[in-house]
Amino acid sequence: MPRIAFIGLGNMGGGMAANLVKAGHAVNAFDLSADALDRAKANGCAVFADAKEAVGGVEAVVTMLPNGKIVDAVYAGDVIGHAPTDAILLDCSTIDVETARGVASQAEQAGYAMVDAPVSGGIAAADAGTLTFMVGGSEAAFARAEPILSAMGKAVIHAGGSGAGQAAKICNNMLLGASMIATGETFKLAEKLGLDLQTFYDISSKASGQNWSMTSYCPVPGVGPQSPADNDYAGGFASALMLKDLRLAMEAASGADADTPMGARAAELYEAFAAKHGELDFSAIIKSLE
Ligand code: NAD
Repeated sequence: MPRIAFIGLGNMGGGMAANLVKAGHAVNAFDLSADALDRAKANGCAVFADAKEAVGGVEAVVTMLPNGKIVDAVYAGDVIGHAPTDAILLDCSTIDVETARGVASQAEQAGYAMVDAPVSGGIAAADAGTLTFMVGGSEAAFARAEPILSAMGKAVIHAGGSGAGQAAKICNNMLLGASMIATGETFKLAEKLGLDLQTFYDISSKASGQNWSMTSYCPVPGVGPQSPADNDYAGGFASALMLKDLRLAMEAASGADADTPMGARAAELYEAFAAKHGELDFSAIIKSLE
């Protein structure tokens, strides 16, 4: 089993690295946070105080970091030129397409194979090893990345060339953000028109309004399957992270000259909501749609 360096063992990366250990990999962990490293150690990782040392002699490097600026800095400063050139590099963070392509291109120029492999699924899926990975990179790089990602997820999909994983992720989340708002405002209107919300759910979930935000993650407490709405909107996927993804989508849309009026409105509404309630699950936006 290949030895893997894992950089960024926070809410998501902590569980992902633990699953690599469970699958039989030796894992070298590096994080700026001492708490994250303590948890990594308890989960069976070897912990390092220096990223450059952590990537020495490994066959793969996985990163799960907050944003594109940090990903760029970590690859330029600590990974490229320090990990063996035959190591495969996998960035699982959610970042902008342009930075993903830029970092991969620098890595390739230095002789590495690299993929962008952002995830769908939250902290619970990271802990359970049931994430979905959307992967951008060459066929050859995907073939090498796939077994490593499979140890942390239930589905690993090749989206296309470099940056395609990030493109798929932000397109999906732009649709998710817009559909959650549309679902929330629809239930609020149904209520104001005097409909019983369970009855409306029973109708719409079997009619053409049906969508994932309604039938898998209903924002109305007590209606549909168990969801963060049933837990005062705690846990789940934080509104601040939805806002992050919508901003990335708007940046990509502007770079690609794409007209995305619903995505733009969703970004505006999450901007206002997350300013006050960034920690609440993104379905809590229904509360602002009175
Ligand atoms: P987090 O803040 O919990 O974890 C990030 C970790 O990176 C922290 O432990 C931090 O100390 C570490 N870090 C920051 N800079 C570093 C550096 N220079 N070197 C080493 N370590 C460094 O964030 P998270 O929730 O785990 O999210 C990670 C990524 O996953 C983000 O890009 C996020 O958008 C994406 N994501 C998160 C979720 C979710 O539900 N939390 C879901 C899907 C995707």
